[in-house]
Amino acid sequence: MCDISRRTLLAGTAALAGLAKAQDLVNRVDPLSPGVYFHQGDIEHHGHCNNGWIVFKDYVLVIDANFPSGAREILPKIRAITPKPIRFAFDTHHHGDHLYGNQVWVDNGATPVAHTGVIEELKRYEPGRWNEAAKSRPDVAASQLKPPSVLFPRELFFDDGEHRVELLHLGVAHTHGDAMAWLPKERILFSGDACVNGPYNFVGDGDVGKWIATLDAAKKLGAQVVCPGHGPRGVGAVLEDQRLFFSHLRDRVSAMVQAGKTPRDIYGSVGQIQADLTAEARIARYVSKDGLADQVEKVYQELTGTTFPEDVKAGKSARLRHARAHALELA
Ligand SMILES: [Zn+2]
Repeated sequence: MCDISRRTLLAGTAALAGLAKAQDLVNRVDPLSPGVYFHQGDIEHHGHCNNGWIVFKDYVLVIDANFPSGAREILPKIRAITPKPIRFAFDTHHHGDHLYGNQVWVDNGATPVAHTGVIEELKRYEPGRWNEAAKSRPDVAASQLKPPSVLFPRELFFDDGEHRVELLHLGVAHTHGDAMAWLPKERILFSGDACVNGPYNFVGDGDVGKWIATLDAAKKLGAQVVCPGHGPRGVGAVLEDQRLFFSHLRDRVSAMVQAGKTPRDIYGSVGQIQADLTAEARIARYVSKDGLADQVEKVYQELTGTTFPEDVKAGKSARLRHARAHALELA
């Protein structure tokens, strides 16, 4: 992360603090504006995603269900702020660290809400991933998969005259069911994993080419504050940072394909791509040591229609270990 953007995103109480202070914001309630809150989840120890919540006149809307343990982390924090009922839990997409906590919210009176694509993704991947996650996560094993039951094909607005939250599907990105929560009055965007702020991009269920276009659409909203799916809260420029990362990655792989490089050549260049992208200050924080090979392969697949041959790929067991350490998004 470049120093300038880090300082900007920490504007406020931690304005002059460095990275250590950013870490301190994990698991803290972060008030953004009257009735609007952000909460940076502990991905490192518990695989939790970030959350938000908006206190309307009569109810609370929570952004992302999180894992069951993540839901239980923020429930008392919301209760400490308001006695109003928590009516809705918006799943930004189908991944376990954003949706598996739905049952916890239902048990507390809320209804899970999502873009219709989330249901399609759940049909595609569940209950296999849930069962896999339950093997290593007691919170998942003790709960049950609860799909969202209020669905919207493109957009859904919550507006009580005081607060307005627009749930928007702007296109395929991190998954085929991503939606974001846009607060036009406050110019705050809760992006889900369509935009993260750090080395958290998982590309397996999405489409990098379309993702770039979706980020372009998100940029047009004109957000001043971006609450990403993972990593610290940022300013509007975070959307462009993430877009640039994918754009540069795609350009590199595309140039190699055009030059007639073989999958083995391209895989062999992952270290060089990593060094090149890390050298660019604006996007360096997005470069994942363990995940870049998968991202390169995904882009290669989108450009050529074929995956890397098995013998070219990194050991699958290594990737699964990585996935397990990062919230089992691969399962
Ligand atoms: Zn995700």
